[in-house]
Amino acid sequence: MKAADGIKAPVSLSGALAILRDPAGTLKIDDIESRGRDIQFRPIPSMITEGYQKKGAIWIRFSLSAPTDFDQWLLQIERPLIEHVTLYASDGAGHFAAVPPSRFHLEAEDGADAYSAVFRVSIPSTPTDYYIRLQSSTSITTSLNIWQKTGYTKYIKVNDWIIGVVIGSIFAMIFANLLYYVWLRENLFIIYAALLLVSGLISIYHMGYSSDVLSFLEPEVVRRIWGIVVCLYSIFLILFLEKLFEFHRHSILAWRISQGVALLNVVALIFALAGHYGDVGFFVSRLQQISLIFVALFALHLLVFRREYQYLLSAVAFLSVICLLSVMQLQYTGFNPLRIDGSLARLLAAGTLIHLVLLSAAVAKRAQLAERNLSKEKDRVIAMARFAEQELTIKVQERTAELAESNASLKEEMDRRHLLELKLRQSLASVNDALARKQDFIALASHEFRAPLAVIAATADNLSFSVGKDASNLGLSVAKIRRAVKRMSMLIENILAGEQLTTGQMLSPGIEAFDLNEILYNAKAGLDDESARRVRFISGEDAMVNGDPNLLEIALQNLIQNALKYSPEDGLVTVDISINEEHVVIDVSDSGPGISIEDRDLIFQKYYRVAGQKAGGSGLGLYISREIAREHGGDLVLADSNQSGSTFRLSLPLERARADNSISDRPV
Ligand code: ADP
Repeated sequence: MKAADGIKAPVSLSGALAILRDPAGTLKIDDIESRGRDIQFRPIPSMITEGYQKKGAIWIRFSLSAPTDFDQWLLQIERPLIEHVTLYASDGAGHFAAVPPSRFHLEAEDGADAYSAVFRVSIPSTPTDYYIRLQSSTSITTSLNIWQKTGYTKYIKVNDWIIGVVIGSIFAMIFANLLYYVWLRENLFIIYAALLLVSGLISIYHMGYSSDVLSFLEPEVVRRIWGIVVCLYSIFLILFLEKLFEFHRHSILAWRISQGVALLNVVALIFALAGHYGDVGFFVSRLQQISLIFVALFALHLLVFRREYQYLLSAVAFLSVICLLSVMQLQYTGFNPLRIDGSLARLLAAGTLIHLVLLSAAVAKRAQLAERNLSKEKDRVIAMARFAEQELTIKVQERTAELAESNASLKEEMDRRHLLELKLRQSLASVNDALARKQDFIALASHEFRAPLAVIAATADNLSFSVGKDASNLGLSVAKIRRAVKRMSMLIENILAGEQLTTGQMLSPGIEAFDLNEILYNAKAGLDDESARRVRFISGEDAMVNGDPNLLEIALQNLIQNALKYSPEDGLVTVDISINEEHVVIDVSDSGPGISIEDRDLIFQKYYRVAGQKAGGSGLGLYISREIAREHGGDLVLADSNQSGSTFRLSLPLERARADNSISDRPV
């Protein structure tokens, strides 16, 4: 060393170093000291790049001399990845002893740095040997520099600025990415924010600030955090790159590989958390290198073969980082085309800054693209919503028109029905009117018929009486008149009774309890002489019934008149009244020709008359008589009929039986 060395710039020991490998890691300084120059240290032309040795250590020997009045020398070891550093120097008594590490900031209070890299060394005027023992689970790559105190202090001040800029930029970018995340809700930004945070921590470690920044933690904890930070960096880096180049969109295989790498790093993280980062550190760094090469190839593939130029900025940013790493790797191997041999830490910090600026630009570009997509999507959604609204309006109009149409037709239909109902009511009213007029007419006609017929009948009686019994011809004529009148009377009575039946007025006015024998008596009294001679009445005990005597007389008259009418002129007719348990039975038997089997049911129908009948008639008598009997709770049947005569049976419930049963009950 010369008096001016190490003030403006450090003196690099690259090229003046010799190394010895200790694969078992068991060699002690005493062993080296005792064997002296017998142990073969191998000179190396560059900085130290020995790579990973799991348990082993690397010993370094170098020789220094300086003007004696300078004892402010400092040995700086750039040790981004080295875990254990011990410097041995001559103790002046012919032995070597470990030199205690100085603080990173020389003026800092006493206490050890967790990641110390500076040793105060006194350099005698005669060349003297120094030994350094290095151990690392990842890579032993370092350069050794000699400073004087004033030069080193300036150097650290500049470093303070650099780390300040790096940390400041990182926080600004983290903030920006959190904003992007809140705005666009894309995981890329939150992952990038995490990656930035971890990158900042790595820079802090690389530049030797970990003890300062994490001074509140035990040195052992600070060392353990290093492993955790490296694993987290690897995890976030691969996740971030996967999102940046959108592996999942382009290749499921690439996406799976990235997820697998992330998973392996998670496993390493578990080791690191348990304090065993040393066991997996080698794999973590190799995995990181391989995965970076893989991503670089994938990015090139996207650009060159797929022509996905939207990844250009991302790829440039990423590839620049790869280039930087490659330069460093070259430097580690001793090949130093750019003549960089100063501060590895500064190189890394510069790399981190470039990397952050470019990647942030890429991320911002992504944010811009995402924002554009978002606003496009918004426009599309708004357009769709408008379209849907228009569609809806048209549909509503159509539906309204349809509804109005069906309303109109419904109204039309209602009007039509209303009109129909009105017409129906009118025609019902006119039918009722016609019916009422018909009834009025029948009542009037019957009344008008009855009176003159009664007069004719009375006059015929008088005539027959005044002419006397000798005038037989006249008597015969009168008898004919009377029979004709009788027939007309019967016809009218039947029409009236029929009317009563259809209008439901039956029984209501004339209902009373009476002896049916009275009816027989009246019927007998109403017969003309000739008829009276032919009819034999067989009366019995009292036969009380409830009912309308007039109607029942009409029924009985019908049966008697039929018997007389359809029997030979002198044929006998028997009217026999009897009583069984609950009924009064009147059998009217004649000596007529009888009724054929086919006609036996038909003769009770309205207006039915047996064909080829000489005697006149209306076909109403039997129908009316049966209806009258049934209205009284009785019945009328053809009890017997053969060639020598027929018997019609009218049965009516006795009054005591009727008291027990309803008036409309039919006999059994
Ligand atoms: P009509 O006014 O024709 O006598 P009826 O309803 O009283 O009407 O009788 C219906 C038909 O039944 C008659 O046309 C007749 O052919 C037949 N008939 C009614 N009573 C007798 C009877 N006693 N003997 C034979 N035939 C009868």
